[in-house]
Amino acid sequence: TIGMIVIDESGSIAAGTSTNGLTHKIPGRVGDSPIAGAGAYADSTVGAAAATGVGDIMMRFLPSYQAVEYMRMGTEPATACQKAITRIQMYYPQFFGALICANRTGGYGAACSKSPGLDQFHFMVYNPLTALEQVVNCI
Ligand code: ASP
Repeated sequence: TIGMIVIDESGSIAAGTSTNGLTHKIPGRVGDSPIAGAGAYADSTVGAAAATGVGDIMMRFLPSYQAVEYMRMGTEPATACQKAITRIQMYYPQFFGALICANRTGGYGAACSKSPGLDQFHFMVYNPLTALEQVVNCI
């Protein structure tokens, strides 16, 4: 999945995902990506989040919505992402997935679930001055 959060110069925030789904998926499978709150969620008064990973697990928890709600309560983006990932791990300790989070003041972060084949998660941050690759260690 490609997940993206965009904040425009007027402060409007949008989030979106584009995915080919999972390998060997059942015809007609929808997955998490197009489900609001699961694949992505945005609220211009707060921030946004977008997810990648095993959608069949992640879509049961609405991690993008949950991370935005944490940010609404004042949680920093990286922590909001971690809390949403940790909540899923209570039920699926080694699920494969990651979440990016950004708030309306330009703060951002990400978290990923440590699982076979996933120790770190890389994401890009663009602003008018620079394009930066960031890395987080999975939890
Ligand atoms: N989340 C996507 C899905 O389950 C897969 C992905 O992130 O690559 O459809």
